[in-house]
Amino acid sequence: MPELPVRDLLELDRRHVWHPYGPMPGRAEPLVVESASGVRLRMADGSGELVDGMSSWWSAIHGYNHPVLNEAVRDQLERMSHVMFGGLTHEPAVRLAKRLVDMSPDGLEHVFLADSGSVSVEVAVKMCLQYWRSLGRPAKQRLLTWRGGYHGDTWQPMSVCDPEGGMHELWSGVLPRQVFADAPPVAYEESYADHLRELIERHADDLAAVIVEPVVQGAGGMRFHSPAYLRVLREACDAHGVLLVFDEIATGFGRTGTLFAADQAGVTPDVMCVGKALTGGYMTMAATLCTSRVADGISRGEVPVLAHGPTFMGNPLASAVACASIDLLLGQDWATEVKRIETGLREGLSAAADLPGVRDVRVLGAIGVVQLDHEVDMAAATRAAVAEGVWLRPFRDLVYTMPPYITGDDDLARIGRGVCAAVGAG
Ligand code: PMP
Repeated sequence: MPELPVRDLLELDRRHVWHPYGPMPGRAEPLVVESASGVRLRMADGSGELVDGMSSWWSAIHGYNHPVLNEAVRDQLERMSHVMFGGLTHEPAVRLAKRLVDMSPDGLEHVFLADSGSVSVEVAVKMCLQYWRSLGRPAKQRLLTWRGGYHGDTWQPMSVCDPEGGMHELWSGVLPRQVFADAPPVAYEESYADHLRELIERHADDLAAVIVEPVVQGAGGMRFHSPAYLRVLREACDAHGVLLVFDEIATGFGRTGTLFAADQAGVTPDVMCVGKALTGGYMTMAATLCTSRVADGISRGEVPVLAHGPTFMGNPLASAVACASIDLLLGQDWATEVKRIETGLREGLSAAADLPGVRDVRVLGAIGVVQLDHEVDMAAATRAAVAEGVWLRPFRDLVYTMPPYITGDDDLARIGRGVCAAVGAG
């Protein structure tokens, strides 16, 4: 048990601790987690355990307290927990970079180790803008994305999140003005492909890059779309001299059923961001990969360096656990496991389709989504899931789950019941 009684801890939390998208002092009462193991969170109030349907915001793909990942951290801790990355390098970071290059779409050769997903997107944008500056095209500094996206909470990423009704609407007047295409339809439509082509052609002189979440738009609405649009983007970007960035922070490492969502289209972007599941959810780390074309372009510029260097860049603990997490993933038949999760979620969520207020039920890989025809009552929906022994975080009109890949069939069924309960209450 924690040293502080749960009631005191919550009072201090409310008074002093910011939570994501929270007011100060805090209003909502968070649940206190004491420990986590496998797919379960043990609650500090003595109420027992919850099956985690969220994988800690989609990152803990192997579950918690995994012996292999624990060992990787422990082993690295004995050697070196951190050292600056400027002028120094070390084996965990180099090994990680090599693994990422080997497993990602062909042509991505260079790796920047960032410390969060949002920063990896900032770095991606800087790479693209700097590339065009180096080539004497400084006017190419805008980004094109499609509506309904989410790329993080720092400045450039906020500017390419959904501009209407999105999480960053507050800043709409001061963020860089980007170019927005309509949100992509689920199935392939030639007219939408034409819409993308037309916008890229029209804005080509100003566009540094197109940036999208491939196949699944996550926090902007958990929407799926045809991978064929990625090929359309690749062709149009090539035809009009625009770089292509894929944000695979949510979709990478098998979540959609392929190692990267880009694999479903056979497309290599010029720049790719990964994060979340990179370290199996153990530590904060993300990465930005780019092709030699982009890296060489930057190196030919007046300022031939990428001017970004966070203090905790290439953190050895995070690098070591990321290597272990990748080895764990690739060392097993992960695709079959994700398929098994997909089947379990289809079964578990099918009951939600008949509930009142449900607009759509969709499943892809280890992602299950129920969309309602109204804003969910977050507190009531969360309580209902918890009463079923499941941790979920419903938002806007969505109740969804992205469970760890190790979730067993019984726990998947429980998650299905938790989702239905949340939908019924929300
Ligand atoms: N891009 C996408 C697609 C994401 O889903 C997220 C996080 N939800 C981010 C970027 C930002 O990552 P982070 O929260 O690690 O900054």
